[in-house]
Amino acid sequence: MATCEVCENEYDKAFEVVVAGKHHTFDSFECAIHALAPVCPHCNCRIVGHGVEADGQIYCCVHCARTAGKTQLKDRVHRPNSAKRVGPRARERGRTGA
Ligand SMILES: [Zn+2]
Ligand SMILES: [Zn+2]
Repeated sequence: MATCEVCENEYDKAFEVVVAGKHHTFDSFECAIHALAPVCPHCNCRIVGHGVEADGQIYCCVHCARTAGKTQLKDRVHRPNSAKRVGPRARERGRTGA
């Protein structure tokens, strides 16, 4: 049994999420999102998709990034360098981050 760090529910199917080396335990994705998902600085929604990152800030979508003045981003990334995606980068790029 593990205890969710958000709602303190004890649940045998709880899972761990590791962020920057720190372990978090949750009973549901809802709790994990509540605790860990970044918030778009433009529309204040929780970013649960890939999001886009510009100047160290993560936006939920390119529209929000553009509205906030980040004009270099495109929603559909064909060239890997035109926008930095937030997510499973190692898998997408196929490298180990050395
Ligand atoms: Zn919970
Ligand atoms: Zn947004």
